[in-house]
Amino acid sequence: LIRFDNVTKRFGTNTVLDNLDFTVASGKHVTLIGPSGSGKTTILRLLMTLLRPEEGTITVDGDYLTHESKNGKLIPAGEKHTREVRKKIGMVFQQFNLFPNMRVLRNVTEAPVHVLGMGKEEAEERARGLLDLVGLGDKCDAYPTQLSGGQQQRVAIARALAMRPQVLLLDEVTSALDPELVAGVLDVLRDLAHTTDITMLCVTHEMNFARDISDDVLMFDAGRVIESGPPEKIFSDPEHERTREFLSAVL
Ligand code: ATP
Repeated sequence: LIRFDNVTKRFGTNTVLDNLDFTVASGKHVTLIGPSGSGKTTILRLLMTLLRPEEGTITVDGDYLTHESKNGKLIPAGEKHTREVRKKIGMVFQQFNLFPNMRVLRNVTEAPVHVLGMGKEEAEERARGLLDLVGLGDKCDAYPTQLSGGQQQRVAIARALAMRPQVLLLDEVTSALDPELVAGVLDVLRDLAHTTDITMLCVTHEMNFARDISDDVLMFDAGRVIESGPPEKIFSDPEHERTREFLSAVL
């Protein structure tokens, strides 16, 4: 469903992703781990087209994200093309970024109504269902500031799902939360992973969560995948010295 081919991303002279290749198959849950600064968040930002690669191509569900094919040649994609492809992707950020002036229900219906053109009633019915799914069916009329950080993050998850994305990107979604609120958010994501066929690409420092939900774990170092495999292998019997060092520091 997601494919990076020879992707290089630089900031000035700093090469953050170096000729990166990787794929995420449809329905799979893939977790990116690795030291701070190794380029994990940059991958999610490229997928959201908040950044553009200097080299290489990214495809989502068979469509180029930042390129278009014209007369057999690849050219940089126009806004409209990129916007269409990006609709297949939902993202939940570290900071929940809810609309503070809107009630919870409206936070979830806003994009389906205005971006997908869904009718208000249908959007509200679906939003209520999604808010139930994240355990907040009774908070539809609250404003974000009336909720705990964990509840706000669960609204952000419902809001991302409301766009019916094929893939959900999760960027350290619990790292801004008080420790006692982390479990509730991870439980919602675990349920999603185990009960839906949504594809997930996560950056997380929660290694137990990564172990529970991942089909594949990719270990990054200096902009490259140095090791990948199922969580049982990566966490219990890593091959690379760098992976062993990293895991012994975080586990
Ligand atoms: P962390 O776990 O700390 O979030 P990460 O693996 O997600 O780290 P990235 O956020 O992808 O790492 O950053 C990779 C590198 O790119 C870092 O060296 C960072 O300083 C650099 N970088 C990221 N964004 C920018 C930017 N907008 N301008 C310049 N350098 C940047």
